[in-house]
Amino acid sequence: MGAIQSNAQLSSWLSQGQVLFLFIHLLGVACFAYIVAKRLVPIFRAAPDLRFDRPLTRLGNVLKFWLGQWKHPRYKLAGTLHILIFAGFILLAMRAFTVLMVGVSENFVMPGLSGSAGHFYEATTDYAATVVFLCMIFAIVRRLIFKPARYAVPARYGKAHTADAVFLLALIAILMVADSLFEAARAAGQAQQGQTFEFAAALSLPWMLTNALRSTSLSTVGGVYFGGYLLHELTFYFLLCYRPFGIQFHVETSLFNVYFAKLDKGTIKPVKWGVSDEHLDQVKSFGVKIFENFTWKHMLDFYSCADCGRCSDNCPANAVGRPLSPRFITIKARDYAFQHYPMFGSSGNGKPLIGTIYSDDEIWSCTTCGACEEECPLLVEYIDKIVDLRRGMIDDGNVPQSLQKPLKALESRGNPYGKMEKKRADWANVKNFQDICHVKTLDKKNGVSTLYFVDSITSYDDRMQSIGRATAKILDHVGENFGILGAAERDSGHEVRRFGEETLFMALRDHNVDAIKACGVKRIVTADPHAYNALRHDYKDVPPAEHISQLIARAVKSDKMKFKPTENENDVYTYHDPCYLGRHNHVYNDPRDVLDAIPGLKRVEMQRSRARSFCCGGGGLMLFYEPKEDQRMGVKRVRMAADAGANVIVTACPFCMVNIEDAIKVARMEGKMAVIDLAELVSQQIGREWPDVRAEHAGKTKECVAASSSEVGT
Ligand code: SF4
Ligand code: SF4
Repeated sequence: MGAIQSNAQLSSWLSQGQVLFLFIHLLGVACFAYIVAKRLVPIFRAAPDLRFDRPLTRLGNVLKFWLGQWKHPRYKLAGTLHILIFAGFILLAMRAFTVLMVGVSENFVMPGLSGSAGHFYEATTDYAATVVFLCMIFAIVRRLIFKPARYAVPARYGKAHTADAVFLLALIAILMVADSLFEAARAAGQAQQGQTFEFAAALSLPWMLTNALRSTSLSTVGGVYFGGYLLHELTFYFLLCYRPFGIQFHVETSLFNVYFAKLDKGTIKPVKWGVSDEHLDQVKSFGVKIFENFTWKHMLDFYSCADCGRCSDNCPANAVGRPLSPRFITIKARDYAFQHYPMFGSSGNGKPLIGTIYSDDEIWSCTTCGACEEECPLLVEYIDKIVDLRRGMIDDGNVPQSLQKPLKALESRGNPYGKMEKKRADWANVKNFQDICHVKTLDKKNGVSTLYFVDSITSYDDRMQSIGRATAKILDHVGENFGILGAAERDSGHEVRRFGEETLFMALRDHNVDAIKACGVKRIVTADPHAYNALRHDYKDVPPAEHISQLIARAVKSDKMKFKPTENENDVYTYHDPCYLGRHNHVYNDPRDVLDAIPGLKRVEMQRSRARSFCCGGGGLMLFYEPKEDQRMGVKRVRMAADAGANVIVTACPFCMVNIEDAIKVARMEGKMAVIDLAELVSQQIGREWPDVRAEHAGKTKECVAASSSEVGT
C-alpha cells in the first residue's frame, strides 16, 4: 500500500469533511479524557500502595509480560490469538494515528515514515490489519459457537458477558475494515487517475478491497474514501470511549498494571503502606471493609482484568466447588466501581463489601496457593486483597467458629492445638531416638551454627513428628551442627498472617525472632514450606533460611549424601509441589533432583506440576476450617497422581502430608496410593535405621487436629 500522501482529487473529497472530522476528534478526545478522569476518582480515594521502587525491574516486567506477552502461550489457542491481536495493535497504533491526522491535515506523514521506510511500514500494517480482522472473526465464532467453559458465568456471579465481548470484537473488526477501505479507495482512486500508486501488500485485506474498487467509478471510489475515513474515525473514538466501561479497559490500563505489579512473591502487604509495625496502634481500622479501603494498585487490578477466566480455571477452590472464583472477586469489584462511581452524579457510598458483593465463605475459602496470580497474564493480584478483606473481617470480630479456638490457643500457647510449650520438643525425645540422633535444644549462644525450625504441626502432630525426626537424621548425617528452639519456639505465624490476624502474627514473629537471635545461629533450616516462607518473607533480621530439600540437593551434588536403591522396583513416584515451596519460592528442581538421585526410583510428572501445581487444600489455616465444597482438593490431587501412573506421592510439606494422607482414605485408595515426605524418604534411603514410627502413629493426624479444640487452654 502506498504511503498516505496528497492527491488533488482525493484530498478534495476528504477536505470537504475537515471541519466535521476535527469536531469528531475534539469530541472523541474530550469524552475519553472525561471518562478516564471519572475512572480515576476511586483510585485517588484509595489507600496508599508503595509501587515506585525498582524501576528497572518493573521495566523488565513490562518488556516480558506486557510487550513479550510471556504468559499467554500457557493457553495455546487463546494465547496465540491474543499475541497476534496484540502485535497487530502495536503495529497499527502509528498507522491509526496517521489516518486520524490525515483527515485534518492532508499531507501528514509520521516522522521517519516517508520513502521506503514508510512503504515497508504500510505493507506490514496491511498484513497486521488483515490478521487482526481474521482473529476477530475467529474469536467471535469461538465465543458464539465453541463457548470455552472458562468464559461461562455461573448464575451466582451474574450474567454472561458474551454479548459485550462479541460487540467489542465486532467493533475492532469494523475498524480494520474501515482502515483497509480507506487505504484501498485511495490506491484505487490514484490508479484510476493515472497516478503512480503503490499497491497494497498481496493477499491482504486492503489488497482485496483495492482490486474490488478499481473497476468502479471514480465518484464511487471518492465516496468510499470519504466514508471509509468517517467510519474509521467514528469507530475509533467510539471504541476508545466505550472500552473504559468493560473488560476492554485493560487495553489502556494493562501496561501500568504490569509496571506496578507486585515484585516479591511470598510476601504479604503491610496492614497499611507507610505505617510501621510500631505505629500500627494508630491505625483505626484494619484491612479492607469498604471499596475505598483497597489500595490504588488493587483498584487498577480491577480495571485491568480482561475477564479471560484463567485465574479461576486454575483456582483449586473453584475446582472443588467452594464459593470462590478469583475472576469474580475482580469482576464484582469492578462492577461495584462502575456502579458507585458513575459518569454523572455523586460517587461512593462506603457500604461494607462483605455481605453485599462478597460473602464470608468466599473470602475464607482461599488457601492463598497463588495459582491465580501465577496464571494471570496481566499480573492481577489476589492474595493481598483476600488477606486484606480477612483483616477487615477479623477487625469486626467476624471469625469462623471453627477457627476461634485454634486462634486462642495460638495466642496463649503459641500453637493451634493448645498443647503445652514444654511438649514442643517431645518428637525428638521419643524412646531411643536421641541415641541415634542427638537433637540439642538451643537456649543460649552455645556455638551451634544451624537452627532447625520445626513449627507447630511437625512438633505436635503425632504423624508429622516423623518428618521432624527424618529432618534431624538428615542434618546429623551431613554433619550439620544443629539444634532446635524447643519450648522457646512458637508457631511461625505464617498461616495466622494469611488468615488476617496481623497482631497475633506479630506477637508470634517477635517472640521467635528474639529466640532465634538469642541462640546466635548463622542459618536456619526447616522442613515446613510455610515456616520457610515466613522466615524468608515475613521475618526481618533473622539468619538466612532454607528448606531441607535444598540442603539435601546440595549434599547430593557434593557427594556428601549417597542413597541405597529403592526396595520396590514397581513403585512409581510423583512429586507434588507444595505451593509455598514452588510457586511462592520457586524451589522446583531441588526436590526432583533428590528423587532422581535415588537409584532405581521411577518418577513421573503429574499434568499439573511445578508452577501449575494443584493445592492440597492446607494453606491459610484450612486444617481448621471446613469450607463448603463438592469434594476435597486433596482427593482431586490424589486422582491426578493416579492419572499420571504413580502409586507413591512424594511431598515436602507437613500440611500437604495431612491432606493427601487423608484424601487417600476418603478416595478409598489405601493400598493403591501412598504418600511420603521427601525428608522421610531420604532418611530411609540413607540407611539410618530407626523404627518406622509412621506405622505406629498411622491415622492419628486428624485426631490431633480434632483433639486441638478440646485441649485449648489446658
Ligand atoms: S490463591 Fe489459590 S485458592 Fe486463593 S483465589 Fe488464588 S487460586 Fe484460588
Ligand atoms: S484476573 Fe487475570 S487471569 Fe483472572 S480473569 Fe482477569 S485477566 Fe484473566
